[in-house]
Amino acid sequence: MAIEIACTVYKMNNIIVIGGGLMGSSAAWQLSKYGEQVVLLEQQDEVYTNGSSFGESRISRSLGVEGNIFSYVQQVTVAEARKLIDFLNKKEADKKHRIDDIYTTSPVTYIYDTAQEADIKKLLHEEQKDRYECAYPHEAFEKFGMRVSESQVVIREYKACSGSLNPKVFISKLHAGIRHHNNEVHYNQQVVEITKKYKHYDIRTLNPKTGGTNIYQARKVALASGPYTGGLLKNIAPYFQQLITPKRVSLVFFKINKKIYGNYTEKQKAMIYDGFPLFDQVMPMLFAMIDKWDADGHPVFKIGGHQLRHPISNPDSAWQQRVSKDEISWGADSLFNYLNMLNIPITKEDILFHDEYTCIYSVAANDTPYVANILMPNNETDDSLVIIGGMSGIGAKGCLAYGLLAADLLLHKDNSDALYQKTKKELGIER
Ligand SMILES: Cc1cc2nc3c(=O)[nH]c(=O)nc-3n(C[C@H](O)[C@H](O)[C@H](O)COP(=O)(O)OP(=O)(O)OC[C@H]3O[C@@H](n4cnc5c(N)ncnc54)[C@H](O)[C@@H]3O)c2cc1C
Repeated sequence: MAIEIACTVYKMNNIIVIGGGLMGSSAAWQLSKYGEQVVLLEQQDEVYTNGSSFGESRISRSLGVEGNIFSYVQQVTVAEARKLIDFLNKKEADKKHRIDDIYTTSPVTYIYDTAQEADIKKLLHEEQKDRYECAYPHEAFEKFGMRVSESQVVIREYKACSGSLNPKVFISKLHAGIRHHNNEVHYNQQVVEITKKYKHYDIRTLNPKTGGTNIYQARKVALASGPYTGGLLKNIAPYFQQLITPKRVSLVFFKINKKIYGNYTEKQKAMIYDGFPLFDQVMPMLFAMIDKWDADGHPVFKIGGHQLRHPISNPDSAWQQRVSKDEISWGADSLFNYLNMLNIPITKEDILFHDEYTCIYSVAANDTPYVANILMPNNETDDSLVIIGGMSGIGAKGCLAYGLLAADLLLHKDNSDALYQKTKKELGIER
């Protein structure tokens, strides 16, 4: 006898946001802030265990060339995060929310090669408002206490909320904010189909735990399902599967031998603190940061290569893939070399492997994400569906700006700010 599992129909919601990572949560929060009725659907449980936003650290950096949209989205995100904190403190008088719960302010170090002089000049243009310091090879020791090679140029950015951000904390605060606006987050709701009806969307979901199915009706939809975004559009905008593609990236984590770290002077510990995060501009664009502090108060380092990414055919199975020995040893060597540059006494044996995992994110051409309405088969814009995707390895720092733009697109709101307009255009479908 067939077992019948009840299907609930959630009649006409104003807006459904699909995906409770940084982008979907940011969009649902911004829509809530505008006073809209929103339901956020997330396939995972309340405890977020995978997704591009998984983890506790991402680089937050602002320094950019003149008119750079990625500097703009970072700055908007910091300003919007402060509003979120103020809102939560009004609603939850017993808790003391702080911007430092989300951001760890520390210098951001960039390493360039002298052959990239043109890029350096563009970055350090006359109108650059962010505070920075730049050291050519002969100045690096005097300015930063660093020993660099003859071809390495070091730039450091100093700014409040530049350093790193914690996606886990960010998401939980966004969800709290959404709920305080009397909106809902539905966990364990995996969207399996999106169908366009005459004046609304039907969104069919499956509860991976119970096998139950639901249908959510929505006038408008924001789709932010990370590496799964292209696949979910297969019936309504199949071309997106070519525009944004999922890629696999590897992350490795290391600690310094306890005894060795314990013997470092306060000055050496400060060199380590100030030296991370690092974003090396030479291929494969090493990034390194202090992911967290262990129970002894010692740093756990996270290492990856911005351009070390691999194509995948099935995102579901790729999460389980183990990081290769070569990638682990590349990570250990990179950390060792950088600590040497920082003048930290260490041997290779003192760098201890701690953890590794594979992460998946979606990538768009030129690493420029999409925050855009889709085009329908007749080439007209569908202003009732917005996608936030192709965020690759740079999305986190701008999440609340992307969420704001997505909310504005759905609600037909605009902003005359020149950089807002530029961002909207560059992230649009007709780029
Ligand atoms: C290794 C790595 C390092 C990075 N480093 C940085 C950095 O230093 N600085 C920076 O700014 N950015 C960085 N990023 C980028 C940033 O983390 C991502 O751009 C951002 O987290 C993407 O968020 P998202 O919401 O688009 O995707 P996700 O976090 O993947 O969110 C999508 C959500 O949708 C859910 N979902 C998927 N399919 C469905 C479905 N069918 N139904 C319901 N829910 C669904 C998923 O469970 C997930 O929660 C890095 C990313 C990675 C992977």
